[in-house]
Amino acid sequence: MSSALVVTAREVSERSVVYTVEGQDVTVTASRGGARAVGDAEVALGLVPALRAGRAVQIDRPLTTGFSDRLQQLQEIFGSWLDRHPVHVEGPAPEPLPHCNGVGAFFSGGVDSFYTALTHLDELDALIFVHGFDIPVDDNDLGEEALRHARAAAAALGKELIEVRTDLRNYRPVGNDWGFTHGAAMALVAHTLSGHLGKVYIPATYTYRDMFPWGSHPMTDPLWSGATTMVHDGAHVTRLDKLAYLADQPIPAEHLRVCWENRGGRFNCCECEKCTRTMIALRSLGALNRFRTFDRPLNLNKVRFGVLRDTAQKTFTRQVLRQLDERGTDPDLADALRWRLRIGPVRNAVVNTPERLYRRLDPQRQQKAKAMVRRLRQSSDSGAPSTDPVSASSDRSPGRGSGRRPHRDGQAIV
Ligand SMILES: [Zn+2]
Repeated sequence: MSSALVVTAREVSERSVVYTVEGQDVTVTASRGGARAVGDAEVALGLVPALRAGRAVQIDRPLTTGFSDRLQQLQEIFGSWLDRHPVHVEGPAPEPLPHCNGVGAFFSGGVDSFYTALTHLDELDALIFVHGFDIPVDDNDLGEEALRHARAAAAALGKELIEVRTDLRNYRPVGNDWGFTHGAAMALVAHTLSGHLGKVYIPATYTYRDMFPWGSHPMTDPLWSGATTMVHDGAHVTRLDKLAYLADQPIPAEHLRVCWENRGGRFNCCECEKCTRTMIALRSLGALNRFRTFDRPLNLNKVRFGVLRDTAQKTFTRQVLRQLDERGTDPDLADALRWRLRIGPVRNAVVNTPERLYRRLDPQRQQKAKAMVRRLRQSSDSGAPSTDPVSASSDRSPGRGSGRRPHRDGQAIV
């Protein structure tokens, strides 16, 4: 019988909580007071790693009563996805905890974040920016630039920005499993802020139609509710419709951030798959020129000969093309997208040719085939095969779950 995974917590100041998991410290520091250590956050830190390892979780603070009631179902869902059995959670008896009145929303500056922030603006008191999720905690340059935009956006929206910094992803069972742990990570931060916030919105990355086992999901996010209520928001709207909603608004046009590859150290690199996809959508809406955080033109040749990796990318391309055809605008972009629909799946098949197929060729042809695929990979708009790290915006490490691999869209830039 393996030992329990032990999680403890201590409030080191009114703004900072240090959690200790398996002897490793994980710090969550906020820019305002009201940080508190609660059992719900301890479980959010340890549960997925414990499920993976088949170990009980031992905590030193009480769960809130509501979270304790939901924990079994939460474990059943993650257990089903990960092919694991629910584990025991050992600790003090659950206690009721009155909710605070504040309402917040996670805000990275991405499409999903802006959509949630703008559609719940009247209700929101604060936006929550986390340095240490999609931006590595030691990447201070990118962190500062993203923070500068988030501060300006929050100020323009008339909301407080709660700035959070955490080294959570240095804890490898979470950092290396980000595809399945990022929802719990948001719960950890939200519960730590529960001395101020009683309800927190989690902007959805995927629509209900595109759901698959994933760390932030409309089935599981609400079940993390405890000290703070968690709300999965915006899964009924496609990314294209969200962009159409944002296209006419001045604040996203100044501050939108979608890129997690940041090639050349650029805020939105304007080259990766996600930048390209967003720029295609904005140009189809006639809005790309207004979005100042994309400071390079859309390369239509790249659009034309880009890889189409999966159903979601094909669906997106068809949606944009349909809109362009209906409006009769931008025939050059429409033409490039038609090419992409014809060529993209073929390029994807070639770029992702399994290595084992080379073995059927003689050595000389093997070398030629590998060199050709290398060139294609380098010229494809994401620069990498789809078997690369999952996720997204945030994820620079592979998920290991039993669910299908999502395309490299970004989860963590919400
Ligand atoms: Zn990019």
